[in-house]
Amino acid sequence: MASSAVIQPSVSPESLLEALLEDCRSALPRCDEHLIRKAFHFCLEAHKESLRASGEPYYTHPVEVARIVARDIALDDISVAAALLHDVIEDTEFTLQDIQAEFGSTIAEIVDSVTKISGIVENRTVTEAETYRKLLLSLIRDVRAILIKLADRLHNMRTLDVLPPERRRRIARETLDIYAPFAHRLGLANLKWELEDLSFKALNPEAYASLAQALQASRAEREAYIQGVIEPIERQLRLHGLRFEITGRPKNLYSIYQKMVTRGKPLEEIYDLFAIRIILDTDDSNECYFVYGLVTQLFTPIPERFKDFIAVPKKNGYRSLHTTVIGPEGRPVEIQIRTRAMHEIAERGVAAHFRYKASYGAAPRWDDDPELEEWIQWVRELFEKRSREEAAQELLESFRLNLYQDEIYVFTPKGELKRLPKGATPLDFAFAIHTEIGHHCIGAKVNGRIVPLNYKLQTGDQVEILTSKHQAPSRDWEQIVVTHKAKSYIRRYLNEQRRLKQQEGQHLLEKRLRKLHLNVRDEDLERIAHALKYDNRSALFYALGTGAITPELVIELLQRNGQPTAEPPSLPSPEQIAEAARQQSRGIELVGTSTDGTPLLYSYARCCNPIPGDDIVGIITIGSGIRVHRRTCKNVQDMLQNNHPRLVQLRWGNVGEEQFIAALRITGDDRPGMLHDITKAIVACDRTNIRSVNIDSYSGLFEGVFTLYVRNTEHLERIVDKLRKIRGVHTVARFESP
Ligand code: MN
Repeated sequence: MASSAVIQPSVSPESLLEALLEDCRSALPRCDEHLIRKAFHFCLEAHKESLRASGEPYYTHPVEVARIVARDIALDDISVAAALLHDVIEDTEFTLQDIQAEFGSTIAEIVDSVTKISGIVENRTVTEAETYRKLLLSLIRDVRAILIKLADRLHNMRTLDVLPPERRRRIARETLDIYAPFAHRLGLANLKWELEDLSFKALNPEAYASLAQALQASRAEREAYIQGVIEPIERQLRLHGLRFEITGRPKNLYSIYQKMVTRGKPLEEIYDLFAIRIILDTDDSNECYFVYGLVTQLFTPIPERFKDFIAVPKKNGYRSLHTTVIGPEGRPVEIQIRTRAMHEIAERGVAAHFRYKASYGAAPRWDDDPELEEWIQWVRELFEKRSREEAAQELLESFRLNLYQDEIYVFTPKGELKRLPKGATPLDFAFAIHTEIGHHCIGAKVNGRIVPLNYKLQTGDQVEILTSKHQAPSRDWEQIVVTHKAKSYIRRYLNEQRRLKQQEGQHLLEKRLRKLHLNVRDEDLERIAHALKYDNRSALFYALGTGAITPELVIELLQRNGQPTAEPPSLPSPEQIAEAARQQSRGIELVGTSTDGTPLLYSYARCCNPIPGDDIVGIITIGSGIRVHRRTCKNVQDMLQNNHPRLVQLRWGNVGEEQFIAALRITGDDRPGMLHDITKAIVACDRTNIRSVNIDSYSGLFEGVFTLYVRNTEHLERIVDKLRKIRGVHTVARFESP
């Protein structure tokens, strides 16, 4: 493909500006020259200090990009001005606010979008190109930003030679994977071809050079041949009084190369290197079929090569008739027939929609992408309803891209892309990677910084999930996630846990009943469940499984109502009762009373989570025994003060291997590796289990609450000591009340 004139450093800024203005005058329908001049001088001033890799002044790059936008995309003056400013935020002292103040919000927004695209896509390894293309669309709200980015990439590709080979290859790969398909999608055929050829040249210089040479060698012969096909067609069309343009153009090198590779044939056997193109100066698409008829009277068509992209346009809106005929010497020649309007769209794609009132019948189809299809449809309708001026005005001033805006795109530490719905959290991300990672997620780092589990991820975030094998989903996780996948996995896990606890509770009760030789009917259990305010038997079993109620309580209620059928009818032996009492009350003992064999029913208060070693007191509750609080708990202070009758003095008994919940509040520097160091220290201390982690970070600091399973205060103290020794940890304290 033709490459544009390379700007020599000797070219003065004034003559550059003049060349750009000339491009604008000849290609744009309207042009505010004052705006272009102002943007040009701003660009010159902003980049005055820097040079390109080639040694040229840096400003030559944005100016060249602006010229591509003016000539090859030919959209409007706003996009030309934005192109001049596209590298200002990234590479100079000037900020987005400066551009906003000088040029207003439309241009500022476009420049901002272009900057964002560069920031996210570049310097990453592209694994899923299609996802990247959607990522681009989700980032930008103004279509002009994509067009400028394509022009920017084209100019960088044209001047790739000055870069070291490795970078050259990486940029070329990225261009081929992301930008060329994008240009194709937007219908920018010429841009696409040039991007492809330049990438091909950088990636496979030998193949490119030999193909270019071979084409050059046979060029004169091929052109003469094509002329032999064009001339008779031209005569026929004139004879019928048609107004048209006919050209024979070589296809781009990359597509010829692909043909050679896919067909496994040498260049000499690839005949369709040229496409003859007939552009009709008419609005009547029926004329295309008429011309097709004339052409096929001159040359025999190959029927299976006829393609009617007028009746069924391509996904990118491309419309044209394609046919292959048998030319002189029996060689096949491809012929494309289209109207001027169709040609505009074929060359400039979406951009042409802004400029050209297309008057064709069938809607373009973007079958596999309904959102894009809808958008194209909307643009087209606007043009059909209004005059071109009106439509262009409306579109350019208020047009907003809303594609994929309800999705976000985030990266794994390896640079792999994950698509998530807007509002997704690190937990969603963890489950998107793997169920196991989701299950054991204790926290996350986003762009190297620790974030809470409920942090809302943003497009472009790089997310690293921190896990602990002791972690497991909890009920509050359901509120944190938004993806269906994460929700259903969490629910499945919780249901399974609930089922296990139920089973445990049922077995516990049945074992106790067997010991007492009691037989219980389901109805009795239902009744007791309701009496204890549980929905049903299963809920009762669950409460037994978690230890919220004891089998003794259930048995007592059964016996009190005289309902259970005991066989043989016998009361528990004194030994059995003593055993039950010991089992039940071994953790907590009443102070000042001798255990008289009555089971002591108790539970730990959630407000202060007492652990063995803490000073404790009890409050006698109705229906659920004694609730154990820490003496320092604020909920018992009033009762302690006036020596409330429901208050009882307690001390710790033998708790055995039982584990207790304790929370620690830790603050410190939000440095890389901090969360890892903390969790490692906790787990390393007698293999302590972590129940949950909740972390917030702000201005370089973090504050986290770690909920742990510990055996007693001594165990907790050891952990606190270890944590205080970690570099960057400021405070570690028992968390009094969540
Ligand atoms: Mn640039």
